[in-house]
Amino acid sequence: MGALTGKTALVTGASRGIGRGIAERLARDGARVAVHYGTNERAAKETVAAIGSAGGSAFAIGVELGTPGDAERLWAEFDRHADGVDILVNNAGIGTSAPIEELSEEEYDRVFAVNVKAPFHLVRHGLGRLRDGGRVINISSGLARTAVMPDKVAYAMTKAALDVFSRDLSKLLGPRGITVNSVAPGIIDTDNTADFLHRTEDGQARAAAISALGRVGTPADVADAVAFLASADGRWVTGHWLDATGGSLT
Ligand code: NAP
Repeated sequence: MGALTGKTALVTGASRGIGRGIAERLARDGARVAVHYGTNERAAKETVAAIGSAGGSAFAIGVELGTPGDAERLWAEFDRHADGVDILVNNAGIGTSAPIEELSEEEYDRVFAVNVKAPFHLVRHGLGRLRDGGRVINISSGLARTAVMPDKVAYAMTKAALDVFSRDLSKLLGPRGITVNSVAPGIIDTDNTADFLHRTEDGQARAAAISALGRVGTPADVADAVAFLASADGRWVTGHWLDATGGSLT
């Protein structure tokens, strides 16, 4: 019996990167996991297969977020496989990086649509599916609390908005025993950061130097923090912003 045996989890953006790490960890703890993806069905199927090979249970659901009706379509897909959810992890997200003069209105709207609007409506339309005693975990970013990368201002603003959502939602859902928290990674080695980490000469070293622990984070580093909040051990932690940056803000 794992800590999450009998629970159902939905992890958005679980085909790759941090979301995949979270899906694999929650499945290892016994949860049945909905592996959500946007367009990369092959990667989602690989995640589902990896979970299955490790003895876990998962299914893939694909819906592009940031499009009209995205949340309702995602839940309709989910409903084909499961009849309720205990753990919702809003992980899917995109970045922006451009000097403010160059960031178009379309790009601004898109990053808010995927990173803020989609999680909001996923929760809104998921309220009836979310079981009492459940968990909502929103994947934020250390950039919501530091101005160290000002060209990512619009992205950082989306994560700050997500953090406010976590805080207010913790009050709204508290009476149902549902905890709501933000987990904020620092620089994690994923496709999202590959250009900086692997295609610049000193990217790895510069990223490692930002962390108090002197290395770049991995999806598993974040997934383990999420697993704590998802577990019964995390029952008294709600409305919290968990710094999972490896000490990058110190
Ligand atoms: P990633 O490697 O780029 O993976 C992104 C995941 O989100 C993929 O599963 C992708 O699905 C999905 N996704 C992206 N846009 C989507 C859309 N419009 N609709 C549906 N699904 C979409 O990203 P990551 O680095 O793991 O980041 C995951 C989360 O952590 C994000 O919220 C990010 O802001 C946050 N974060 C990351 C870092 C970091 O250093 N990596 C640091 C702080 C916070 P497909 O495979 O179908 O494309």
